[in-house]
Order: sequence, then C-alpha cells, then structure tokens
Amino acid sequence: MVAGRGLHQPGAPVNVPVPFSSTYRADGAIAYGREDNAVWAALEETIGSLEGGSAVAFSSGMAAISAVVETLPAGAVVVVPGDAYSGTRRLLRDLSDRGRAVPRETDIADTEATLRLCEGAGLLWVETPTNPLMAIADIAALAEGAGRLGVPVVADNTFATPVLQRPLDLGADVVVHSVTKYLAGHSDVVMGCVITRDDTWLESLRTRRTLHGAIPGPMEAFLALRGIRTLSVRLERAQANAAELAGRLATHPMVTRVRYPGLGSHPGHELAARQMRGFGAMLSFEVEGGRGVADSVCAAVELCVPGTSLGGVETLIERRQRWAGEESLPEGLIRLSVGIEHVEDLWSDLSGALASTARTARR
Ligand SMILES: *Cc1c(COP(=O)(O)O)cnc(C)c1O
Repeated sequence: MVAGRGLHQPGAPVNVPVPFSSTYRADGAIAYGREDNAVWAALEETIGSLEGGSAVAFSSGMAAISAVVETLPAGAVVVVPGDAYSGTRRLLRDLSDRGRAVPRETDIADTEATLRLCEGAGLLWVETPTNPLMAIADIAALAEGAGRLGVPVVADNTFATPVLQRPLDLGADVVVHSVTKYLAGHSDVVMGCVITRDDTWLESLRTRRTLHGAIPGPMEAFLALRGIRTLSVRLERAQANAAELAGRLATHPMVTRVRYPGLGSHPGHELAARQMRGFGAMLSFEVEGGRGVADSVCAAVELCVPGTSLGGVETLIERRQRWAGEESLPEGLIRLSVGIEHVEDLWSDLSGALASTARTARR
C-alpha cells in the first residue's frame, strides 16, 4: 500500500473500502474489530510514512498519550514541559495523585535544565511549539542528551505536523498526535496516533490499544484519512495567514506581545527556523487591559469562532487562561488557531473586534 490508497489494480477504488464490521468470518487475518481494521491500516500507513515510522491509531489524542504513559513501570519519573498541553499535565498529575507516576515539570526551551531533570527519569516528554506559549524546544539536543542517560523521548507533534517537523528524524523515539487537530483538519473527528521506529514500542502500543480498547471508529478513521489528503495545502494557506496576522498584531497599539516563532522577536525563532520547515499556523497574543479586554475581543469577533481546539479550516479564538490547569498563563493571553479564510477577512474581523473593544472601554 502507498499513501493509504489500497490495491494498485485496474478497477480498484481510489479510496480504501471502509469495513463497518465488528465481526469477521473465522480463519482470516483479522479475528475481531478491536484488533484491527483495513481503514486503520490505510490511515496508519499514511501517517507513518509522513512521520517516517510505523503508526498506531487511537480513539483520541489523550488515548494515544495515555497508551504511551501506560508502558512505563509504576512510579516512573516523567519530565514534562510546565506549559505542555493541559490534558497531558492533568493526566500526569492524576497519576501522581494515585502514586503511579512522578511528573517533573520543566522549561522545555532550556535544554540544560531539562536534561538535569532527566537524571533517573523513565521518559522525557517534549512538545514544540508548546501550547499556548509557543516555546520552542531543541528536539535534537534533547534527544541526544536524554539518549546518553538512557531516557526515551516522546514528542507531541500536534502543533507542527509532519509537514513542518519530523521528530523521529531529529532523534525522538516516539511521536504522538492529536489527529483531531491538523491531520483530520475539519473539526469533525476526535482521534489520536502514536508513531515510532522501534519494534518494542510498536508492539507494546498495539497491545495497549487492544487491551484498553481505545480504538478509532472506522468512519472516523476514514474522515481522518480524507483530511490528511489536503494537509499540506491547508497548512500552507493557514501558515501564510498566521504569519501575516502575527506581523500586523505585533504593531497594533492594543497588543502588548505576540508569540509566533516566525517573528524575529521570538526567543526560539532561530531554532525554529533550523528545526521546522515553516512556523505553523498557531499564535498567541496579549492585549493591554488583561482579562476583561481579552474576553471582549473574543466576544466581538464575527468570522473567527470563539472556542477551544485548533487545526481546523476555520479560525478559532479563545482566552486561554479561563481553563482549569491554565492558571499560570497571562490572563489576557488570546490563542489563535489560524484557518484558511481570506487573510483580509480575518484581519478586518480581528482589527474590528479590537477597535470595538477599545471604544467600549473608553465609554
Ligand atoms: C488537543 C491536544 C491533545 C489531546 O488530543 P485529543 O484528540 O483532544 O484527545 C494533545 N496534545 C496537544 C498539543 C493538543 O493540542
């Protein structure tokens, strides 16, 4: 199979048929629907070839992350970015409360400090860019240092996607994705995936999936595969939009700070330019006046959609600190997942929302 396209035969369907079946006739390759599915295989072949490894699909990004963490012995230390995806940190804190894992939070952009925490650890969790502070971690340097300590490295590649960054090529042992976001790309699927080149990891992750049962549905797998077909085109447009909006926001009088790795002012700019093939379509910015002003801006937009999540074709906006577990963020920080709309429509919406908020504040 190439690119999840099925049989190279005259008359073969271009898209793989989707087996909506829990049950199979005896003595074939698949015994039962929790073990495997032909459409998972097509999806996994596609994601695996994009990341340069073998993929295992899960029912959500968190199911994929849980499966990776579940491979660790009880009480293992997990070094994790202090600003990693909130679900990842909450999972580790929950495990910690029950004595199953010991999270050590780090500033992942600080390679030396992170590697000092890796002494005796069971896993180093890397996320870059981080969500939502957009910090950039040096995957190659972290993988090299952790490798010397015998600590496996997992990279959450959800923000960058394999189009912009391939952590396995940079030395990571395992990559995880929330397929929900850019890979599926249309805000209609929740799914996750793990990719590795290591057969021991692969076997263990497949076993976790079968035993824990966190399997993707066949329809969701089909939608994700269809979404991936346009990944690079969607990302190209969304990224161009994000770069333009980041530049304009950076000079807006109401905006105090823009975090986008494509800006020369970003502390991780040079590293990102080396490590990534583009700076992506996520950015965050802070507004003068903090929480109240940020909430008004998010309420005033008409084209952008106020809401959480990211990676869809529509632009999503939210004040991030409103979430549990995000208390340490600047209260006025607004996260934007930039979509594929016309950039001038987006700018007129955002600049209009900023202007109407300013007018209300003056009144
Ligand atoms: C959304 C997200 C996840 C969790 O994925 P789900 O599909 O929502 O379970 C993990 N990591 C990052 C970076 C995310 O944005």
